Amino acid sequence: MKHDYSEKLWQEAARLLPGGVNSPVRAFRGVGGTPFFTQRAKGSRLWDVDGNEYIDYVGSWGPMILGHAHSRVVKAVQEAARDGTSFGTPNPREIRLAQLVREAYPSIEKMRFVNSGTEATMSAIRLARGFTKRDKIVKFEGCYHGHADSLLVKAGSGAATFDVPDSAGVPSDFARHTLTLPLNDFDALDAVNWREIACAIIEPVPANMGLIPLKPGFLEKLRTMTRDGGALLILDEVMSGFRVAKGGATELYGISGDLTTLGKIIGGGLPVGAFGGRAEIMDCLAPTGPVYQAGTLSGNPLAMAAGIATLEELFKPGNYQKLEQLSASLADELKTIVPGHHARVGSKFCVFFTNTPVVDYVTAKTSDTAKYSRYFHAMLEHGVYLAPSQFEVGFMSLAHTPEDIEATLCAAREAVKAL
Ligand code: PMP
Repeated sequence: MKHDYSEKLWQEAARLLPGGVNSPVRAFRGVGGTPFFTQRAKGSRLWDVDGNEYIDYVGSWGPMILGHAHSRVVKAVQEAARDGTSFGTPNPREIRLAQLVREAYPSIEKMRFVNSGTEATMSAIRLARGFTKRDKIVKFEGCYHGHADSLLVKAGSGAATFDVPDSAGVPSDFARHTLTLPLNDFDALDAVNWREIACAIIEPVPANMGLIPLKPGFLEKLRTMTRDGGALLILDEVMSGFRVAKGGATELYGISGDLTTLGKIIGGGLPVGAFGGRAEIMDCLAPTGPVYQAGTLSGNPLAMAAGIATLEELFKPGNYQKLEQLSASLADELKTIVPGHHARVGSKFCVFFTNTPVVDYVTAKTSDTAKYSRYFHAMLEHGVYLAPSQFEVGFMSLAHTPEDIEATLCAAREAVKAL
């Protein structure tokens, strides 16, 4: 593969953007080498500026569940753009997208649309604090909830990749209101005085330190303890929402959050997030209540159109079964080819290069990241794009075909030779 044009752009990008990127993990520092610049994408494929073609399992980090540039989504965005790109007034598409979210999430009685997952979790935390009139929050080590100050404490994703789980620039006065607990540690839940906690926030399918499913009973216990202590439970379904099931982890595990945060898929590749939950809590938001939250571009008509088209297409009968079959056929075979600790929940999957069972952040860190880098680059050379960090996951889309999966398995058979 040639990468001349990407190399040239990379040098120019490094002059203009910190680290050459607008989001850290894109810089490939977790695996080394120079990132490719994408020219276009369609279905399961990406093409870089040098003309190389890749089977894509990153899917823009989750949103592209229908595959790239799905004709229905593209048409919806084009039609919306013709009518104007932003109004700053209510628009009918906000209602349609809200109806679709409610159809999938009965626990979301009311919701508000924002522009990213970060905005969704940040706003949900403020709302939980305003509603409960308490300051302290609980999060779990290695879970990533975006980059708001109070949530960038022992965080996953890029923070785990670069080993800076506690960011500079977050005043310790803020961080001291955030209690962090080890994931999957039942005793740690008992040690908290839940009567002084505003909320616990958790990824119900933790997938920002690689994929680490919760132990059976952990979410149930967290639900009970938060409820008994008068604290709210925020299920961060920015990544798992509409992915692990139509109603996300809420449906998969039968546990409802008082508040739920969404992002990625509901925007169909445009910038959208949402948070929602019980009406009595949501009504504490301005203009009906005292908790302030706003956005010039929130409910943007193009973003709503992309989200509506994505969800309407996704909700067609048989799609979740199809995703499950495709994901199982890839992940089950990969297990037999690539030695390591494999995990899969629905259409999210990952492999850790360790013999230790991975159950939390500490055990995730036992993975041989140098080996992951070799695996990543060998797969890339064979035309398969996996997440450029051990501490992220792979995403299957409805556009992947059995032929894509066969080609991926062939690549993996070659790649393991490089390990
Ligand atoms: N929550 C979770 C669970 C996430 O995975 C992410 C992003 N990967 C976020 C929040 C933040 O979303 P965004 O990057 O859109 O701000």
